[in-house]
Amino acid sequence: MDNQRIVVVGGGIVGLATAWHLQRGGAEVSVVERQEIAAGSSWGNAGWLAPALTLPLPEPAILATGIRAMLSPKSPVYVPLRPDPRLLGFLAGFARHCTDRHWRTALQVFIAANASALQAYDELTEAAGAAVEERISHASPMLAAFADEADREGLLEEFRRVNTDGGHTDYSLLDDDAVHELEPALGPGVHCGISISGQRFINPGRFVHALADAVKAAGAQIVTGREVADIDGAETRPRVRFTDGDPLEADAVVLANGAWLGRLARRHGVRRLVQAGRGYSFTVAPASPPRNPIYLPTQRVACTPLGGPSDGLRVAGMMEFRDPDAPLDPRRVDAIVEAAAPMFSGVDFTARRDEWVGSRPCTTDGLPLVGRTRTPGVYVAGGHGMWGVALGPLTGRLLAGQILRGETGDVLRSFDPLR
Ligand SMILES: Cc1cc2nc3c(=O)[nH]c(=O)nc-3n(C[C@H](O)[C@H](O)[C@H](O)COP(=O)(O)OP(=O)(O)OC[C@H]3O[C@@H](n4cnc5c(N)ncnc54)[C@H](O)[C@@H]3O)c2cc1C
Repeated sequence: MDNQRIVVVGGGIVGLATAWHLQRGGAEVSVVERQEIAAGSSWGNAGWLAPALTLPLPEPAILATGIRAMLSPKSPVYVPLRPDPRLLGFLAGFARHCTDRHWRTALQVFIAANASALQAYDELTEAAGAAVEERISHASPMLAAFADEADREGLLEEFRRVNTDGGHTDYSLLDDDAVHELEPALGPGVHCGISISGQRFINPGRFVHALADAVKAAGAQIVTGREVADIDGAETRPRVRFTDGDPLEADAVVLANGAWLGRLARRHGVRRLVQAGRGYSFTVAPASPPRNPIYLPTQRVACTPLGGPSDGLRVAGMMEFRDPDAPLDPRRVDAIVEAAAPMFSGVDFTARRDEWVGSRPCTTDGLPLVGRTRTPGVYVAGGHGMWGVALGPLTGRLLAGQILRGETGDVLRSFDPLR
């Protein structure tokens, strides 16, 4: 059906990529955002489009970190100790999926999604007449840095498992000299590395704003500063109710409101919990700015050059299972600094700027929630956890195909929000 009127809730990468595809498919689209474009996790993240690392989050190694370690504010995976039944329910569900069997099953879905994820970005930036005017950089290469070979073994083992199970990760090992030659900003704490080919990265805030501009230029309406309270529907066309002002009727509504998805989606049959896995970032200005992303797997820290030398290096990390609206906790920023500083030289971490916290929308089984709900005309697009930037454009393409043309496929079936 052409000229459907569709409301997308959420102005992050997932909502806007969906809006872009819906608009190109002939729909009349409005994007409604409670704050401003990229107000959620789509701004201060690491911006990696990294198929080599876009893998399921629940894995046996996370549990091996140990519950006691997770209760320490310095731990890269942090769970505040408080009696919150919803959080406990999420953690129990998440723990149930941290098995080798679940990881391998989810891996097959990620392998299939990753195969089209980069091409979905090219589609956005190369589309005649509707191109997103923002650069996608090719990492040459992406570098993982380690204190020693024992530390390196964990990521190597993960790559081996992916390659044995049908994926293809192209990597090579770097010794002490090679890793420092490749990246002079690395410090004396680094003694070996892995060079990973075929990965890309963006300045995520800039990209999402450019995407919003492209969506607007194509005729969509973008409404900021309006919060959606609920979606009515079932017998009638879906109706979007706001916390104030008149409701909006539409042929379809897409809930793409990130870590807040569950609040609006639950009454439409989406039972799987979406929990905020909060991450932190800040920007530093290295004396010799890296040109490529640097991954510190042991510290769970991701570093990304944001563009020109004056844009600096974004340093991101932490996974804090907590309320998405809780304020930034400076102890978490300190923990990232403490972990990352010994791995760099020529970086003044005290001169950091743009301290930020954002909420990854995490699901218990590590798979996104994309597709139709129980209510006719109401769809969800979210729950991408660590990888919503990498998979956002692909999600938009798949969901628009389902809404406008009734298309489906293996990836969408695995993302079924009613599972
Ligand atoms: C530190 C960190 C590093 C990361 N690094 C990467 C990376 O390198 N690569 C990668 O692929 N992913 C990365 N991620 C994950 C990625 O940021 C997220 O998966 C992605 O941004 C999710 O996008 P989204 O559009 O679903 O949600 P969001 O960007 O959070 O957007 C949701 C929007 O909905 C709005 N909203 C909420 N409720 C309502 C309502 N009721 N009414 C109206 N609007 C509403 C919010 O204000 C928000 O703007 C990282 C995340 C973090 C925290």
